[in-house]
Amino acid sequence: MIIDCHNHIGFDPAHLENICSKDLLDEMDGEGVDICVIFPFVSNPDIVEQNKIVETAIKKNPERFIGFFTMNPNLPDMTNMMENYVECGFKGVVTDLRFGVGHSSKRFHELVECALTLNIPVWIHSDDKESSWIRIGSLMNLLSKYSRVRFILSSMYKEATFVASRHGNVYLDTAVYELGQDMLNSIQVLGTHRILMGSNTPYGSIQWEKTKIEMNQQLTIFQKNLILGRNIKTILS
Ligand SMILES: [Zn+2]
Repeated sequence: MIIDCHNHIGFDPAHLENICSKDLLDEMDGEGVDICVIFPFVSNPDIVEQNKIVETAIKKNPERFIGFFTMNPNLPDMTNMMENYVECGFKGVVTDLRFGVGHSSKRFHELVECALTLNIPVWIHSDDKESSWIRIGSLMNLLSKYSRVRFILSSMYKEATFVASRHGNVYLDTAVYELGQDMLNSIQVLGTHRILMGSNTPYGSIQWEKTKIEMNQQLTIFQKNLILGRNIKTILS
């Protein structure tokens, strides 16, 4: 089973992209991908409306989509909203520094603590290479403090492999690896069980992401199967 863990649907005001679930389903069918994890564009501040688009998609195609909701840690009703989203069928939370809340802030820690109580993974997301310079110290503290939480850290972050090497609860997606060799370098440090196929559609392509993994002659079939779906399945089980 092939599961792609990084796909956006809804409206992206930064690039004026509007992606519906049918667009993604067509791409999945063309590439033989069974399931996609979907969430909104974090550039869109209207998280309620955008999460609704994801919820509609997962309810319409529960066999093909797994939904993560986005959360702005500034929202006063954050924890109640998170509980409601999990009750609605969402399986994880995505947040991003573009909401303006740092990893050391009380609000960010509360988001993670709520995810811990709800037993859902936390995606610390970025698609933006320019914004991915972060204070590693506060991120490392967060990851240590909540060592029972499963974190997915966008490989877009500088130092992502180093950060993950210090925390066994951190998983990286494959989106930023332009060459198979870059992915192999991370695997050498972290092991294959920490790497997740994530194409970052619509800005990446499922075809490219699959090819990068499937055509890599240094990976065994066992390793490829882990990256292509078994790892994210384990995180969500
Ligand atoms: Zn993304």
